[in-house]
Amino acid sequence: MTTSISTLLTANRVDLHCPVCGKRVVNADPNVPVDPCPHLLFAATDLGTFTFVSEAYQGFTEKALNAHHEYDIDPFAYAVDHLEPDDLLCLSVAGIGFQNYYAFSFDLGDSDEEE
Ligand SMILES: [Zn+2]
Repeated sequence: MTTSISTLLTANRVDLHCPVCGKRVVNADPNVPVDPCPHLLFAATDLGTFTFVSEAYQGFTEKALNAHHEYDIDPFAYAVDHLEPDDLLCLSVAGIGFQNYYAFSFDLGDSDEEE
């Protein structure tokens, strides 16, 4: 499946709040590390590094980094292309001199009840 990435263009670095629970996960100050909430699966920069990976996705992002090193594939794009959930929200936050990517999931792991 194809997951689209929504892009937010900003003049300056901004705080980014989780679209699900509202927690501030990214501080406008680039020196403050990502403060994850349960919905943030992983975050990456356009330099090909992950700045945060949730425990469940550690192996997955390692594959993405291997693809990056072997084939020069953008690891976030790889990760997004190889994810299955329909409830994934991918945001790219871009400004002058920086671009960061965040993958949020709306699924908190209790979706089995709906099937
Ligand atoms: Zn959240």
